[in-house]
Amino acid sequence: MMQTRYMSNTDATVSLLGFGAMRLPTDSEGNIDYPKAQAMVQLAYENGVNYYDTAYMYHGGKSEGFYGDTLTKYPRDSYYLATKFPVGWCEKEEDIDRIFNEQLTRCKTEYFDFYLLHALDKDKFETVKKFKIYERLLQYKAEGKIRRIGFSFHDTPDVIDAITDTYKFDFAQIQFNYLDWVQQDAERSYKILESKNIPIIVMEPVRGGYLHRLPEKIASVFRAVNPDASNASWALRWVADHPQVKVILSGMSTLEQVQDNLNVLSQARPLSDEENKAVETVRDMIRSQKNVPCTACEYCMSECPNGIKIPDIFRAYNDYTQSLNVGKFRRTYKEIPEENQADKCISCGACVAKCPQHIEIFTELAEIDKLLHTI
Ligand code: SF4
Ligand code: SF4
Repeated sequence: MMQTRYMSNTDATVSLLGFGAMRLPTDSEGNIDYPKAQAMVQLAYENGVNYYDTAYMYHGGKSEGFYGDTLTKYPRDSYYLATKFPVGWCEKEEDIDRIFNEQLTRCKTEYFDFYLLHALDKDKFETVKKFKIYERLLQYKAEGKIRRIGFSFHDTPDVIDAITDTYKFDFAQIQFNYLDWVQQDAERSYKILESKNIPIIVMEPVRGGYLHRLPEKIASVFRAVNPDASNASWALRWVADHPQVKVILSGMSTLEQVQDNLNVLSQARPLSDEENKAVETVRDMIRSQKNVPCTACEYCMSECPNGIKIPDIFRAYNDYTQSLNVGKFRRTYKEIPEENQADKCISCGACVAKCPQHIEIFTELAEIDKLLHTI
């Protein structure tokens, strides 16, 4: 059965695996495939997953409604529902009530167990202060419409320190995995939150699948230690070894992924010294390669006037830098419609501000386009 962890500060016993609803299966028209997605929720729920995460804009605004249509089958006190306020979409104080009430309606609920300020960074933190968003959430909490207030986060450790010094939060959601421990100094963010006794919800434990799709020469380090464990299971176990982490969110897309995550996190034992060494070796090998640290979150896509398939291009490129398989790179790249390929980027820069990973997207696209003409 699924492991649980206790958040002593807010008296919540949460499942170690959390269900993220940002990459649900979709049909040919891009709509959420209800039968498939509901079967995934059912499998997770029946195996002890009690934390369900969504956000106002996931799946073009349809993800919250999916939970509203799905979780209401189960007793309301048998699961925790988490959603997020789209700080970036708040232009005046009145937007707060409008959006919040819409979220309650979509989710068919009277309250949220966990409510987050979405994707805070330095700029969005200014928006929170300007429109007194936190203060409004405190009022919702007093009215029983929110049980716990937190934030998800995409910036440097100094900013997380400032945010948590300014307001009292019940939990925080950060990007946390063995690569970002070093690559994005997640170690410092973790230690800041630990020192303030703020429980951590983890997002991107497998970095949008990147730590699962390791190239053969790197994955062989893991297999030499344990031939049967998947690359993803190493990443999940590493995250689970950190006691301040209470929930590990996985944005699952298939029933098989749900089952794999259930298998790993139901029986995850701590990594041994030998296994921790293997993780360090793998991290060093990944960091020595050239790649674009894209998590395929798609936040940039809404801004692009030319519909450039940014995450698809970066995924094809990252696969290439790991496999050095030119033929496969070309084939994958050709699957992207011509009008949405890298050479159609006009370097307007509109996408960059949306990227939580601070990738200079147009520069990377130009380099990839150049590479395609030279290999
Ligand atoms: S810089 Fe390129 S990819 Fe980014 S929004 Fe502009 S055209 Fe699209
Ligand atoms: S480029 Fe940035 S915003 Fe776009 S999908 Fe990748 S990580 Fe997300």
